[in-house]
Amino acid sequence: MKFSVASQPKYSDYFRARQRMVKEQIIGRGIKDPRVIAAMEQVPRHLFVPETLQGQAYGDSALPIGEGQTISQPFMVAFMTEALMLRGDERVLEIGTGSGYQTAILAKLADRVYSVERIRSLLERARKNFDQVQCRNVMTRLFDGSYGWKEEGPFDAIMVTAGAPSVPPPLLEQLKIGGVLVIPVGDKNSQRLLSVRRKKRGFSEEDLRECSFVALVGEHGWEKPPRKDYGLS
Ligand code: SAH
Repeated sequence: MKFSVASQPKYSDYFRARQRMVKEQIIGRGIKDPRVIAAMEQVPRHLFVPETLQGQAYGDSALPIGEGQTISQPFMVAFMTEALMLRGDERVLEIGTGSGYQTAILAKLADRVYSVERIRSLLERARKNFDQVQCRNVMTRLFDGSYGWKEEGPFDAIMVTAGAPSVPPPLLEQLKIGGVLVIPVGDKNSQRLLSVRRKKRGFSEEDLRECSFVALVGEHGWEKPPRKDYGLS
């Protein structure tokens, strides 16, 4: 186990709600990787949502986290994580830290997670969340993640948790041979979740399912909105 959740009262309502979430939404919908299931059982999602929404943290939906962004639906987190087929020794790049919930799940399953977020206030809160759940193998960066994180690459796996108009070339460049990139690609309202594997020569691509993510905003994503809309600082 990469961090302890001992501070979590074991038989609290949240604990029971999380167990129900895993049974109904995760195992019940076909997630099979036992390590992914264990991570979903362990990471306290309610600590990653605004206090007023904690009662809904184990429901079957994405929730607002401020700045017009959302924490992903639990099933989608598990599905995307399973698609990376992590074994424990990987260096993983995540684009779109948001609340940090997906990051904390990845941190349970890989050696080290490098997570990039473009909105300062979200990243600051996510860092506090990592401290609270004692998640220590995460490195974060305030940056346009459509460029990836070149200095720390190449990566065994890359996950993008925002919807892109097309696959950003720097992310392909920063993927190791044999590595997998999972990314939603499409228009601003709905996307296809793609799994792209780097071969010795070239890439193979698989279309996993439909999905709906907030926009990847940046040089290799969608155009940057006016500053005031996003409260960037
Ligand atoms: N995995 C997060 C999802 C957050 S929503 C969670 O479960 O909480 C997607 C996030 O991607 C938002 O926080 C948004 O600010 C961020 N984002 C969008 N474009 C980005 C970019 N170019 N670089 C880094 N982060 C980006």
